[in-house]
Amino acid sequence: MEIACLDLEGVLIPEIWIAFADKTGIDELRRTTRDEPDYDVLMDYRLRILRENGLGIKEIQSVVATLEPLEGAIEFVNWLRERFQLVILSDTFYEFAMPLMKPLGYPTLFCHKLLCDDQGRVVQYQLRQANPKRQSIVALKSLYYRTIAAGDSYNDVTMLSEAEAGIFFKAPDNVVAEFPQFPSVHSYDELKLEFIKTSNREHLL
Ligand SMILES: [Mg+2]
Repeated sequence: MEIACLDLEGVLIPEIWIAFADKTGIDELRRTTRDEPDYDVLMDYRLRILRENGLGIKEIQSVVATLEPLEGAIEFVNWLRERFQLVILSDTFYEFAMPLMKPLGYPTLFCHKLLCDDQGRVVQYQLRQANPKRQSIVALKSLYYRTIAAGDSYNDVTMLSEAEAGIFFKAPDNVVAEFPQFPSVHSYDELKLEFIKTSNREHLL
């Protein structure tokens, strides 16, 4: 059996924090792991900005609900699900991603969680586990699935390495250059071909 593991942001949907910053006009929320490599420091900072701007979970979800999957993403997910079991492995939060899961047909999503109080204020976040993308592949392999993974950035590399086959999708040139062992594609049509090529059921797809 084969299972497809996809990163979410940058592969099927826009970068949520960036899109959220655009929609709200709060530039401080554009800060990413590239600016602040310590994820805990970055998240504490983001939660403080949300609080200062009076943005709770309801406001976040209503903004995210106005975003759309990347062009061609819905068709690609449908194509993939007819041929592979699909799991989305993401470093986003359920509360952020759920409005965007609807147009994608609610695929299985493993990601993190935001903790809110009675007023809907985001008070903390809960990472699902350490090294979640790699560990998910390890777990799927323990179920004897053959895994094919695709992602667009540094946080996907452990997932791509652990999987039977790893593919870069719309990854920046510097990331691709640093990990030349992975094929790199830039359109959903090319990504389909990579999935077919790396599948052990190539002749059936
Ligand atoms: Mg990504």
